[in-house]
Amino acid sequence: MKDTFKHKGLRKQLVATLIAKGIKNPAVLDAIDSIPRHLFMDSSFLDHAYQDKAFPIAASQTISQPYTVAFQSELLEVKSGDKILEIGTGSGYQTAVLCLLGAQVYSIERQLELFKKTSQFLPKIGYVAKRLIFGDGYKGLKEEAPFDSIIVTAGAPFVPKPLLSQLKIGGRLVIPVGDKDQIMTLYIRKGTKEFEKHELGNFKFVPLLENKN
Ligand code: SAH
Repeated sequence: MKDTFKHKGLRKQLVATLIAKGIKNPAVLDAIDSIPRHLFMDSSFLDHAYQDKAFPIAASQTISQPYTVAFQSELLEVKSGDKILEIGTGSGYQTAVLCLLGAQVYSIERQLELFKKTSQFLPKIGYVAKRLIFGDGYKGLKEEAPFDSIIVTAGAPFVPKPLLSQLKIGGRLVIPVGDKDQIMTLYIRKGTKEFEKHELGNFKFVPLLENKN
């Protein structure tokens, strides 16, 4: 598990690519610059770790494209100490970005294999989430609600109601909505029943699956 000068150099290039694509938040760019993405990937894809692409991980899932991770992270407007719920832990890369941004991260994964692997791996390389949970993200995490923000890292066919109701007033839900392709959607909770909705472009995610634990 090495992080070499070569890896660091490749990360600088990746950060330059993300800036060229419109990512501006310095803390998000710093996180991408410092997290060794290659350690989150299967050995067969190591050479590609710093391309701005999604790659396969275990259980037919993917590690999200760095641009997508940066875009979603920026939309969350993370402040140090924010309580954030992530749906779809996967490789843990997005979780690590949120930890570095100073958030208290709760992250849910429905694939047991990935849940186990990432639960062991993340603390080993120094990223400590508040809680990693094996379960169904459609339900959110009622016992820890409300959250400053919620991020969904799989394509949701619809917006699960519990996620909206588990936001603080002023809280933000970032969720890709759609079947084949998704529209990145930001909801800001303005009041008990009022939500502001913003649609922010097309993305492609693996599906958010229901009730298959
Ligand atoms: N954030 C991850 C992205 C992984 S891909 C990363 O950076 O690597 C999306 C993940 O969502 C997959 O691991 C998939 O198993 C998980 N997922 C799909 N449906 C889910 C559900 N209902 N609840 C929780 N996790 C889910």
